[in-house]
Amino acid sequence: MFRTHTCGELTKAHEGQEATLSGWVNSIRQHGGITFINLRDRYGITQLVFNKELEGLSSLKNEYVIKVTGTVRARPEGLINKEMATGEIELAVKELTILNKCEKLPIDMSGQVESTDETRLKYRYLDLRMPEHMNLILFRHEVVKAFREAMNEEGFVEIETPILVKATPEGARDYLVPSRVNPGKVYALPQSPQLYKQILMIAGFDKYYQLARCLRDEDLRADRQPEHTQVDFEMSFVTSDEIRKTFEKIIKQVFKKTMNKELEDFAIISYEEAMRRYGSDKPDIRFGLELQDVTELVKKSDFNVFKDAGHTVALVVPRELSRKEIDKLGDVAKRYKAKGLAWAKTSEERLEGGISKFLNEEVQKELKEKLQLKDGQTILFISDRLRQAQSAMGQVRLALRDQLELVNKEDFKFAWIIDFPLFHYNEEEQRWEPEHHMFSMPKPEFVDDFEERPGEVLGDLWDLTLNGWEMASGSIRVSNPEIQKRIMRFIGIDEKDAERKFGFLLEAYRYGGPPHGGMGFGIERLVALMKGLDDIREVMAFPKNKNAQCPMDGSPSEPDPAALQELKIRFLADKED
Ligand code: ASP
Repeated sequence: MFRTHTCGELTKAHEGQEATLSGWVNSIRQHGGITFINLRDRYGITQLVFNKELEGLSSLKNEYVIKVTGTVRARPEGLINKEMATGEIELAVKELTILNKCEKLPIDMSGQVESTDETRLKYRYLDLRMPEHMNLILFRHEVVKAFREAMNEEGFVEIETPILVKATPEGARDYLVPSRVNPGKVYALPQSPQLYKQILMIAGFDKYYQLARCLRDEDLRADRQPEHTQVDFEMSFVTSDEIRKTFEKIIKQVFKKTMNKELEDFAIISYEEAMRRYGSDKPDIRFGLELQDVTELVKKSDFNVFKDAGHTVALVVPRELSRKEIDKLGDVAKRYKAKGLAWAKTSEERLEGGISKFLNEEVQKELKEKLQLKDGQTILFISDRLRQAQSAMGQVRLALRDQLELVNKEDFKFAWIIDFPLFHYNEEEQRWEPEHHMFSMPKPEFVDDFEERPGEVLGDLWDLTLNGWEMASGSIRVSNPEIQKRIMRFIGIDEKDAERKFGFLLEAYRYGGPPHGGMGFGIERLVALMKGLDDIREVMAFPKNKNAQCPMDGSPSEPDPAALQELKIRFLADKED
């Protein structure tokens, strides 16, 4: 037997009992001829005391795996450690077995010296053995468990969809898997189970969910990985409102169970309003500093930029910013494609500095009224096309959030962003694209003639955001094959292509698909945010590095020539590319 208890279990109640523990040597201390070892496992740390030399004791080093048997005894009064669950006791060891040794460690496991990301990923098993890292994965487990419980309670059925699929478009590149038994053909790895969950609704399952792995061959950033997991679900015979209500209830339950937090009701904001007030379709609504449109008002000024601009958006900062601070915000605005950031400061009498000299009395007065200006504030302006001005100012707003420390990481504010446009225009490729994916339904008033006025069409399509992050997307789906074909045609998928790529889906809808809709909700981002982290890799057991490689197993690696032969695949040399 390896253990009678875990390393986090023994308390004063066990005093006098014999116990056997197994685990890793966390630290070794000598004190007056006595050896103290902290023994660690997933559950905690227990102090071991060796009053005499046992065989093997002097050879022990950190991270050796040992088994010990001894007697639980109370620690003397002054040596009680209130921080540790087992801090009232220690185990006086009688028997020691070394189960496995540990070589010189490639990373500092005391956490004092930080390892590079690459080293942490290469030795991820050591990295994860450190309690603060392991605890993130354990917490993720709690969150996933709470989701499962809540989804099950709501009557959702967990169904696995295939990993080898026909491409499911989510706007990213597919990972492809060649088929040996079907030479010249490939499967795609699913970007999401989208088409399969829609087909499960046609089959009549009514409420489906899955903790689904989604694979997308994208360039990586801190919040992107080649694989991520979604709580993916779909419901039949529901309105978008009902879908959102159901999922809001589920998320509230997850926060209650895992963080003992009562979330307030989620805000509901239209896309238009989110852009207007926050300059973002994933607004951080934990703080104010809302944008204000002053286009018409400042057109009356002598400032040509304002006069010629399509739109001018203003933001009032509740304090006087220094030149340096304004320049920094100007850089942010430019990084997000604004031509510049104009400014002025308020004083009791009039506006000062920046562009104030171009603002005549009347404009100043109206600005003061409209923006309710007070003494000692700074007004920022961006002029551009509407969405461009809004989104650049939205980024300035976020920079101010961080600079002025306006939010608290423990504050969780969810918002439903509804009434998204169904299409957006891709300037580079000069064509209309679906805002989300092509399976989302236009709102009823646009169904008849969406082709005629694509820029105006709203979809029954929404996002869920948390603290400025997009957490989920969802929509009511196009369960009518004729409308689906029209959408495909409109975004440039001709009849033949539609048949080749999605014929199976269009066919399925010919046999009676129920009205349905659903969502996909990213787990990693949620768990990271719950823990106040920006990097989703911290909550993934084996994430890839920024080049989509795994430093631990060396993937991706060159394939075995025999395997390529069998697949009848030859890589093109670079020059033939
Ligand atoms: N499949 C979508 C996504 O991955 C979510 C959905 O519409 O259900 O974003």
